[in-house]
Amino acid sequence: MKNVIVGVLALQGDFREHINILKKINVEGVEARLPSEVDDMDGLIIPGGESTAINKLMEKYGFDKKIKQLALSGKPLFGTCAGLIILSKSIEDGKRGLGLIDIDLKRNAYGRQIESFEDEINLNLNHDMENKKFNSVFIRAPKIIRAGKEVRILARHNDGVVLAREKNILVSTFHPELTDDTRIHKYFITMILEYLKER
Ligand code: GLN
Repeated sequence: MKNVIVGVLALQGDFREHINILKKINVEGVEARLPSEVDDMDGLIIPGGESTAINKLMEKYGFDKKIKQLALSGKPLFGTCAGLIILSKSIEDGKRGLGLIDIDLKRNAYGRQIESFEDEINLNLNHDMENKKFNSVFIRAPKIIRAGKEVRILARHNDGVVLAREKNILVSTFHPELTDDTRIHKYFITMILEYLKER
């Protein structure tokens, strides 16, 4: 694949797993620890982890403003689980996210009994994809309780939206970086290639 550099926000959470899965598709993933580092990167992944911890560190280092700027400049962003919580509009416990995707959430929505589980979902990424099944890993995952009309639904689990995109922002409630299946990361790379072509 073309030489793109993908930043992975490396403040807390499973950023190494994202870098490893990018390696599998021959894409360079680079840990981003300071806002100034992401200017040279072609896209940014916000990993899973603990959104409250990531949020605190983001504010401390000024990443919140930087990520808003990136989103407005059209750079592709991909938030998985806690990363989605950070990018979304409002979270049911009264907190607000960065509001970069028109989605409202409930955190830890599957309850204590089922903190984590794996299940198959059907991907709806592009028409020519032969196998639509994707084994997804959910860990203390949020549920999307509202998605605005500009939000494209790319996969559901039961009735709930679990993978979605609005313009340059891609989000999942599960962890594609914890499987060997690279298709969702490849899809994110196509978003980056489109962005680079348009510039
Ligand atoms: N439950 C975590 C939170 O609310 C998210 C979990 C995850 O990223 N796997 O931040």
